[in-house]
Amino acid sequence: SERTLVLVKPDGVSRGLVGEVIARIERKGLKLAALELRTADRAVAEEHYAEHAGKGFYNDLVEFITGGPLVAMVVEGTRAISAFRQLAGGTDPVEKATPGTIRGDFGLEVQYNLVHGSDSPESADREIKIWFPSL
Ligand code: ATP
Repeated sequence: SERTLVLVKPDGVSRGLVGEVIARIERKGLKLAALELRTADRAVAEEHYAEHAGKGFYNDLVEFITGGPLVAMVVEGTRAISAFRQLAGGTDPVEKATPGTIRGDFGLEVQYNLVHGSDSPESADREIKIWFPSL
């Protein structure tokens, strides 16, 4: 079994899609190992998105992710990292994510793409430590 860090980003929370995202995770057969509604402070957001520091969209991304409450979760199960990324769909909700995925069904803009999921076991370890240091 594997763990991944999932965020329902502030756009997903403000649009009332938390239940929808959790339902899809659960129907897939993945389990919730931790879950918290919180507003990320700048330090957490910058650590989470450290790999994007210096990119053109970085400041907007940090502003957006700290701009309202989000839901952070640890999701557990067989091949959880890849399984959740498949549920999420590609980064661009229109050009990459296909219908049937979370982003493909509910998103229009790259920045407001509703969810995050770790992209590798190393990222999952790093991100779980950032969001849930006690786990
Ligand atoms: P996430 O890390 O949130 O799961 P991802 O792995 O699909 O997304 P990354 O390339 O790591 O995509 O980008 C991180 C996040 O930065 C994206 O989810 C999106 O919210 C934002 N982002 C990426 N590219 C752009 C862009 N060109 N313009 C605006 N925002 C962007």
